[in-house]
Amino acid sequence: MVGLTALSFIALGQPEPQQTMQGQTKETQATVPAKETKMNPPQEQSMKAIRVHEFGGPEVLRLEEVPTPRPGRGQVLVRMHAIGVNPVETYIRTGTYAYKPTLPYTPGNEGAGVVEEIGSDVNEVKPGDRVYTARSVSGTYAEFALCTTEQVHPLPANVSFAQGAAMGTAYATAYRGLIQRGDAKPGETVLVHGASGGVGTAAVQLARARGLRVFGTAGSDKGRKLAREQGAQEVFDHLAPDHFEQIMKATGGRGVDVIVEMLANVNLGKDLTILAKGGRVVVIGSRGRVEIDPRDTMQRDADIRGMGMPNTPPAELASIHAALVAGLENGTLHPVIGKEFPLAEAAHAHRAVMEPGAFGKIVLVPSM
Ligand code: NAP
Repeated sequence: MVGLTALSFIALGQPEPQQTMQGQTKETQATVPAKETKMNPPQEQSMKAIRVHEFGGPEVLRLEEVPTPRPGRGQVLVRMHAIGVNPVETYIRTGTYAYKPTLPYTPGNEGAGVVEEIGSDVNEVKPGDRVYTARSVSGTYAEFALCTTEQVHPLPANVSFAQGAAMGTAYATAYRGLIQRGDAKPGETVLVHGASGGVGTAAVQLARARGLRVFGTAGSDKGRKLAREQGAQEVFDHLAPDHFEQIMKATGGRGVDVIVEMLANVNLGKDLTILAKGGRVVVIGSRGRVEIDPRDTMQRDADIRGMGMPNTPPAELASIHAALVAGLENGTLHPVIGKEFPLAEAAHAHRAVMEPGAFGKIVLVPSM
């Protein structure tokens, strides 16, 4: 396993456009076409995209033909080869999430592909460059996605587009949670509570590369095997009622220093009882309410630290992606793709991402 000192370096921050909760900018596809654009092959006038006209179940995700957006100043049009699917896109689709987009909208926060066209004042990338996208202006569940230059990052040649589609949300979240919010240090013990999914597998790889002792959990044998293969030294079944006791025992009674938590509404109360002194729980995922005993934090000088990716300051976001690109380049990070669906089957992908038995990342492929 390669040491990942690169994962802590700071990249230059650039001002970022205002972000919504979903990570799309508040601009829409109605961007003024650029006077000067540089194109790769002649671009199609229309494209296939998933559109949501009403909030509801997965069936509201409809494949439609829509105008292909054109990049304005400081913008990039990316031909999407793979698109990451995340639980948050299912919450938004129901219309019950804190962030509610204006209808109709194109879902999607991330993906990977090739720069098709650039607007004026774009010097960071050129047509033909392989990139991954983290957020977008127009939504990524489409053949093309409009992005700002801050939203695209180089995709090294050794990394597939499907793998690149895991970077913008899952890996960025894992890095933010583990390193920036959790302040996980080499030599500490981390519990990745939910180590079989998109964020969890990323957190295991990042933590192991950073020199932590890594514990991971999953609800299936397949998921636990995956967590172990990604670098977890000890694995546990989060469906086993006594798994907290097992984890405590594995630390010799000392407790874990950091927990990155994928399902806080189920685990937070018990998490606090297995922290070492000065321990931190980073709440990455939660789907409801939970009761805790505050004394469990007092006894340990423990912290509960929430995180939401849209809150990440621009300079810290740039730092995250600089580190992730370095990790891809040196082979430390190797996203696991569990399932691929054609773009037209986005509804199936939304059902799959909410099912138990996670196995890495789920992606949509426009050309399938
Ligand atoms: P995912 O690929 O669907 O993975 C879900 C994970 O949760 C799986 O590892 C699953 O394990 C695990 N899980 C299920 N029951 C659990 C339990 N009782 N205890 C612990 N873990 C359990 O989803 P993801 O993309 O990794 O996202 C994980 C969570 O983080 C989601 O809730 C998502 O909404 C959230 N998230 C938050 C942010 C943010 O900014 N805060 C950003 C990205 C994602 P098994 O399937 O093996 O049981």
